[in-house]
Amino acid sequence: MNHLGVYIHIPFCVAKCNYCTFNSYAGLQHLHREYVDALVREIRLWARSRPPVQASSVYLGGGTPSAVSVELLGVILRACTDSLSPAPEAEISIEANPGTVSATSLSALRAQGVNRLSLGAQSFDDSMLRLLGRIHTAADVKRGYYVARRAGFDNVNLDLIYGIPKQTLGGWNADLSEAIELYPEHLSLYCLTVEEGTPLAESISRGELPSPDPDLAADMYICAEERLADAGYQHYEISNWALAGRECQHNITYWRNLPYVGFGAGAHSFYGRSRYYNSLSPKEYVQRVMDGQEPQAGRERIDETAEMSETMILGLRMCEGVMFRDFEDRFGVSAVRAYGEQIRKLIDLGLLDAKASGIRLTARGRLLGNEVFECFLPAAPD
Ligand code: SF4
Repeated sequence: MNHLGVYIHIPFCVAKCNYCTFNSYAGLQHLHREYVDALVREIRLWARSRPPVQASSVYLGGGTPSAVSVELLGVILRACTDSLSPAPEAEISIEANPGTVSATSLSALRAQGVNRLSLGAQSFDDSMLRLLGRIHTAADVKRGYYVARRAGFDNVNLDLIYGIPKQTLGGWNADLSEAIELYPEHLSLYCLTVEEGTPLAESISRGELPSPDPDLAADMYICAEERLADAGYQHYEISNWALAGRECQHNITYWRNLPYVGFGAGAHSFYGRSRYYNSLSPKEYVQRVMDGQEPQAGRERIDETAEMSETMILGLRMCEGVMFRDFEDRFGVSAVRAYGEQIRKLIDLGLLDAKASGIRLTARGRLLGNEVFECFLPAAPD
């Protein structure tokens, strides 16, 4: 049996947030049933044409999976169980918007085997939530969190965003205090990226909102590192903190560059030495699957040079970094032999830390991660 991570994309949202460029759409409720039928078909066809697998994790992400009825989510989960045989200890996660959860829906999801809930809190400040265009309030986040606990979820993540225009260091500290008081098992903290074409970018370009200040965002990150360490959280990936043993197993599959398969519109896969992705449009995706066509819209063969590069870049996102032994076992060559020049340069710049067992980002390297990762990209062809 091969082990793998399974990602299911649910591209539906109640409303589109002001900063969002994810593959997600509001107003497509009429497509939910057909989309789930297509998902089930894609999962079954995929499993039927390959050797048996055992899913090590299943992750329902979006979009907003909780915007779909629990009955339809149950149909997807059953298809995963029937075709992808999740291991008994598999992590089964779902993302939820606090504005779309109830005691009934969360209890039903728990009963259907979902054992990890990721709540998109984003902030505990209503003015920030309004600026971001979120459909929920801070009170909804707390209500959703306590409802999840009562429904039996003992593994909960909260997503928070920092670096929001008008957000102050004091405001961010207050968000961290609220999160720490709730004491979820996991916290994902993302720096806001202003993407071109979003309502947020337009408000900034019209001068209605200030541009985010990168120095202030760096201060917010450092503040989070200190406060979460004091509260007992382990910083295990650039943007992720967890209580001991509660790291997200599904995301570790990505950061360790291990195989995963994605189902649904725009879902990406890394399987059989290829990366490939499905059509972005939910309507086109449904049509292709129901017409018996492959939903894939693109595919790239990953040669060993590319796989080594990705393994370094993704592995360095994790705070434990890249272990020399793991790298050599996988590729038959040592990381120092493959990337000695880059490693030495980054150590001299104070961005990498080397031990006998491996290399990892320094605290400064975590702030300047993209500059580090660029050094491990394969050389462009002449
Ligand atoms: S809920 Fe998430 S996926 Fe949906 S629009 Fe907002 S940020 Fe995007």
